[in-house]
Parts: sequence; C-alpha cells; structure tokens
Amino acid sequence: MTNNQKLLTSLPAVDEILKSGQGTAWQQSFPRHHVLRAIRDVIERYRRSILGDELQDFSQDVLFADIQTQIARLSEFSLKPVINATGVVMHTNLGRSVLSEEILERVKNVACNYCNLEYDTEQGVRGKRYSHIQKLLRELTGAEAGLVVNNNAAAVLVCLSALAKGKEVIVSRGELVEIGGSFRIPDVMSSSGAILKEVGTTNKTHFDDYERAINENTALLMKVHQSNFKMTGFTQSVRVEELVVLGKKHTIPVMFDLGSGCLVDLKSLKIQYEPAVQDIVQAGTDIITFSGDKLLGGPQGGMIVGNSQLIDLIAKNPLMRAVRIDKLTLAALEAVLTLYQDEVNVRTHIPTLSMLFQDIEKIKERAETIALQLKSDPELSQKDAVMADVIKDVSQSGGGALPGVEFQTFAVALKPINISVNLLEERIRRGNPPVIARIKEDALLIDARTVRDKEIRMLVNAVTAALV
Ligand SMILES: *Cc1c(COP(=O)(O)O)cnc(C)c1O
Repeated sequence: MTNNQKLLTSLPAVDEILKSGQGTAWQQSFPRHHVLRAIRDVIERYRRSILGDELQDFSQDVLFADIQTQIARLSEFSLKPVINATGVVMHTNLGRSVLSEEILERVKNVACNYCNLEYDTEQGVRGKRYSHIQKLLRELTGAEAGLVVNNNAAAVLVCLSALAKGKEVIVSRGELVEIGGSFRIPDVMSSSGAILKEVGTTNKTHFDDYERAINENTALLMKVHQSNFKMTGFTQSVRVEELVVLGKKHTIPVMFDLGSGCLVDLKSLKIQYEPAVQDIVQAGTDIITFSGDKLLGGPQGGMIVGNSQLIDLIAKNPLMRAVRIDKLTLAALEAVLTLYQDEVNVRTHIPTLSMLFQDIEKIKERAETIALQLKSDPELSQKDAVMADVIKDVSQSGGGALPGVEFQTFAVALKPINISVNLLEERIRRGNPPVIARIKEDALLIDARTVRDKEIRMLVNAVTAALV
C-alpha cells in the first residue's frame, strides 16, 4: 500500500465520527444536519488533499478540530455584529445607528408579548399604530401632527403621492439630490405620480424662480436637504422661511425633506447649518420628513410632521399600508423619542450622538489603550509583527448628514511587518467578529471614535490572530 492509500483508509467513516463521544456532543449543541454536513465537508477536503499529495499525515485531533470549525461556520447567522473601526458613525452599510440596551429592553418587552399596537385599551376599540408616537412628535418638534412610516424615502414618496399626484411640485435644481442607493428626487417624484417642476440653476435659485413657476396646477413647493454634499462659491438658495411666505401668498403648502432630521441644537457644537426640526416647524413649513436612524439615532423609520389637515390626508393614502412601520421599530422609536424629552442627558444616552460628540480626549485615550494592548501582546511583540502608532485624523458622520463637518479623531495606524496592509485589512474583515477599518497610505487605520470600550479586547484579539 502506498502512503496515500494508507492515509485514505485511515480516514474515519462519517458514521463512526457521529457515534463518537465528540460526535454525540456536537449533536447535542448544533443542528444534526450541520454536524453531518461539516463531517462530510472536512472528510472530502482531506480526501482531495491526500489524492493531490498535499497531505502527508494527519492526526485525529486536528481532523476533529477542523470539523468543529466547520460546524461553527455552518451554524453562524448571516446577519451579525461587526466592529466598526471606520470612524463613520452613521455608516449606512454597517446599519447606521446603534441602539442602546435601554432601548432594546423596550423592544423586547413589546416583541415577546401581545401589545396594544392597534388597540385602544381605554375605549376597547381598534386604534392606530401611529398613535403611540404622535404626542411625542408633537411635543418634541412643535408640529400640529405627526406620522411615522418605514423610512424617510417612503415618507417622501407617500407625501408626494398624497399631496401632489398628477400635479406639479416645484424644486430647485440645486436640490435634486441622490442619496446613495437608488433614492433620487426626480425618480421618487415620478414614482409618486407627481410632476417635477425644476427651477433655477445648479448653483443659484432665486425667490422669483419659484414664483414664476407657480401655476394653477402647482401642488407643492418643495425643499430638499443637500445631505451628503456641500456647495460653496457662487451659490444661492431660497430659505424655507421665504418659501413659506410665497406658499402663503398663493395658498400652496411647503414641504421640506430634511433628510437627517436633528432634534438637538447643534449650534452649541459649532455646527451652524444643520437646522433642528423644531426650527423648520417654527418657520411655518407645512410638511417635514426626516429619518429615524440618522442624526436622530433611532431605528430605521421615516417621520412626517406638520399641518394636521395635510397629515390626515397623508394618513388616508393607500400607500400608507405598504410603507407602514412594524411594531419592533415602533417600540424602539417611542423609547428613543422619550429620551429626547430629557434634553440634558439625551446626548449621552443615544449612541449616535454620544459617538459623534464625544470628547476628543476620550477618543485619544481609547486609541492609546488599543495601541498599548497590541504592543504588550506577548505573541505580537515577540514576533515584531506590527507597528501601532496613535495618530490624529478626521472622521465623517456618514449617513448623508453633516457634509463638510470634520470630526477630529484619533486612530491607531497599523503597519504590519511581515504581510501587506491589504492582507491585514482582508483578514480582520473576514474574521469573527469582522473588523471593518480603512486603509490610508501605507497603514490600516483603526479609528477609535466608533470602537466601543467593550469591543477593545475583541479587536485586539482579531488583529493579533491576523498577524501571527
Ligand atoms: C437619507 C435621506 C433620505 C432617505 O432616508 P432613509 O431613511 O434612508 O430612507 C431622503 N432624503 C434625504 C434628503 C436624505 O438625506
């Protein structure tokens, strides 16, 4: 017998592994079909390696460890936590806003029990799901009425459909924005059945441009927050206050797609041009829409606030059923909005806000902790595997909000000695949990702004595992 033949016959049979002590233990902790699949996968892999002369010997222990790893991989969920080391707080691809445990308690309580989602327990009759946050929206924004739907894109769509189907909506050419994915104002407009009436130029739109475009078929004057870009230089736009004056004169409602929708005053943080929702309401805007998971820091959702007659019209639109919010989201949203009632503590209780506006010294400390733990890891220091220096950098808010605002930050710049930066990036990204970081010049940057203290140990382990 050749060595290969000997090796092949020494591979245990699937049944034999299943019946072994280890096999029985696996079947108690994992679904049987995963265990079976994993054993077959690993044995097949070994068989091919032996036939290809790539495996000269193997031990039972290593074989079993490989099966164990494969079972774990098969049993993993597809949607799972990652460590966000990009510094981008509202990273749309990484789930935008993070919710706190406090919020999750509320969700759990509602999700694991029957609830009064659409039932009025006072009257014993059918209720409305929006009713649970209407009072909060009124109190927090100052608007007469409020609604909530699946996301802000849906909010814009349903408002346009309810208020302007078959009619014209006047928008400045400087505000015909695209917000990642497939949300583009002209496309949403046509999907809703409204007719887009563009006015002005890319860089300048005047009051008169709007006024000249008004005719008997005009349903709305619309403003759109530029969200993810900023225009500088020879520019002009019409303030919402002025549009309100124009709207009043011609009895045409004004709608503002605010995008992010911030409920805290950012002026104290020297962020001048992100208006608070309250200010836009105060200006007399008839309908305002904004996201739940951008600067608000809540779950995905789309708020619609404004004039109560218009809100009633929107609530009756048939699209509302297609874009309605689910009960888990609603529970989270009510909890988040409740936190906003406490103006003093809101910035520390909502992770999005606390990450964006955290003290720069705290970020520096965290970066130093990460660097120190990496440097003092015995495995890494022995092998002289990486340089880890704390550097100053800037992070972005992400989520199509606060463009041009630079958030000072600190990052750990990793320069591996024995492998390329690209390979290090790939390894930690494919690890468990995945770590998402960005490459800048010849280093992999771990931005400490978005790494939470409880993640530091896991992060350090992930980098160590990728290097040794
Ligand atoms: C982000 C954004 C949207 C889309 O909001 P979602 O909640 O992601 O659907 C729409 N309009 C503007 C101006 C935005 O910034």
